[in-house]
Amino acid sequence: MSSSLLSVENVTVTYRRPGLGKLIATNDVSFELERGQVLGLVGESGCGKSTLARAICGLETPTSGRIRFDGTTVRRLKNRRRPRELMGIQMVFQNPYASLNPRRTVSSQIEDGLRAITGSARWTVAELLTEVELDRAAGEKFPHEFSGGQRQRIAIARAIAAGPELLIGDEPIASLDASLQSKIALLMRRLALESDAALLFISHDLAVVRVVADSIAVMERGRIVERGPVAEIWNDPQEPYTQKLLAAIPAVDGMGRLPG
Ligand code: ADP
Ligand code: MG
Repeated sequence: MSSSLLSVENVTVTYRRPGLGKLIATNDVSFELERGQVLGLVGESGCGKSTLARAICGLETPTSGRIRFDGTTVRRLKNRRRPRELMGIQMVFQNPYASLNPRRTVSSQIEDGLRAITGSARWTVAELLTEVELDRAAGEKFPHEFSGGQRQRIAIARAIAAGPELLIGDEPIASLDASLQSKIALLMRRLALESDAALLFISHDLAVVRVVADSIAVMERGRIVERGPVAEIWNDPQEPYTQKLLAAIPAVDGMGRLPG
């Protein structure tokens, strides 16, 4: 029996689409993830990344295969309520409004995260705001009073407040200005590692994943077609699909392809 923090075992998720037959969104995916590791999951839009993320946090039921977190099989959430044994998985979405309540102050929402912790909390609300580079006064405001990048910082603070062992970012920077993307991505990495958590960072953009991850899994039409350390995937991709993703990255800034 495996004792990994997260173990995804031959997971397939199939959707039935009325009139269109079934669609295999995630196809026989397997991988393991440990605390302190950052795995980047990359692939084009529609390849099944979000479906896999949703299955990991109990928002989707695998058609076959199994997902285990801390040794517990992940089952579909009832009423979107996370059972206590799965509070250790926290998700940050592309749209921070998916995880923030527009009608409540920022600090009350970060406090919700802190209350989810069974043991003693690692942070206070004020400390968390500082960690995500917002000033303390931010706590008394509401989500709409912030920019997109600031809202994403709040969503990250809320996720970290809950003391996750596994932090998942599903395209967490896709809606942000290019100038903010690597900053927010690296903030997630830093806070995940400081919390001794694992980070599963999902993006369609290999240039972003490269900055934040230690290893990369490349997904094509529901399957993981290539996996390895960042340097290997970046410098010596084996799969034509990975080569295609790499070739599509403009070499305009420091995040682009290295010369030579
Ligand atoms: P990604 O996150 O990589 O863009 P998704 O996991 O969102 O990919 O989607 C994978 C495939 O599954 C796409 O073809 C998408 O249209 C389809 N899909 C996603 N969610 C559903 C659903 N609830 N019902 C039917 N098809 C879906
Ligand atoms: Mg997606």
